[in-house]
Amino acid sequence: MSQKPPPKQFTKAPITGTKSVIMISSAKGGVGKSTIAVNLAFALQKLGLKIGILDADVYGPSLPKLLNLKEKPKSEDNKSIIPLEKFGAQCMSMGLLIDEQTPMMWRGPMVISAIKTMTQKVLWKDRDVIIIDMPPGTGDTQLTFVQEIKIDGAIIVSTPQDLALLDVKRGIQMFEKTGVKILGLIDNMSIFKGNDGQEYKIFGEGGVKKTAKEFNKDFLGYIPLNQDLRISADNGEPLTCSKPDHEISKIFLSIAEKIKLSFQ
Ligand code: ADP
Repeated sequence: MSQKPPPKQFTKAPITGTKSVIMISSAKGGVGKSTIAVNLAFALQKLGLKIGILDADVYGPSLPKLLNLKEKPKSEDNKSIIPLEKFGAQCMSMGLLIDEQTPMMWRGPMVISAIKTMTQKVLWKDRDVIIIDMPPGTGDTQLTFVQEIKIDGAIIVSTPQDLALLDVKRGIQMFEKTGVKILGLIDNMSIFKGNDGQEYKIFGEGGVKKTAKEFNKDFLGYIPLNQDLRISADNGEPLTCSKPDHEISKIFLSIAEKIKLSFQ
């Protein structure tokens, strides 16, 4: 009698210097993945965790801008890289090592080698958690990442449009097939509160929450479209870091509290 082959086991390399690794992913670019990665990281810091942020979005690195990082990271042995430190967070981004436009011309293997450098050669030290800002989508790069790196949990960010949601389902499947625990889904920019105090549902309502339910995943919360969040990102000082009492920061803090329980 023929036997079913066992599920494929992936040998996953841990990122050293940290207790946990959480990945922030999205199906598409421009849905606010980087903004959420950075603000969530500092919300976790407010809860007492020592944080690292790894911007693995090689095609569109945004950490240098989001944290106003200008220095080049140093190396003591020409092999390993010392992460930069900002607001108490250790930080690394391809955008710090090369010209931001260069990876646009890279093919898959070069992207994968860049990811290996950032996950295996950065001297993270004494971190409780590293938040990884992933490249958007579910292509080869993302797949290599989740197959080869040990990850404690993934969060999927989306806007509630139908098109984005279709891709979110693909993202859920990618994590499930590769054995990465999905901590939950975040709905970004669906709500806008006007000066009149009214809430406007710009992209429709409840789509991300519905998708979470459909796939039996946790829904972590709604981040409204908010000008202060956008301005703080443009100024290189994340809102959760500079204004932890802001109403938007409080939403990030409540999400941080929820996920902290699932990976610590
Ligand atoms: P991604 O990483 O998915 O490409 P970004 O985080 O770079 O997206 O966000 C794209 C743009 O949208 C940025 O200008 C960012 O400041 C803005 N943005 C993201 N989320 C919000 C939000 N909730 N409110 C206001 N602006 C936002």
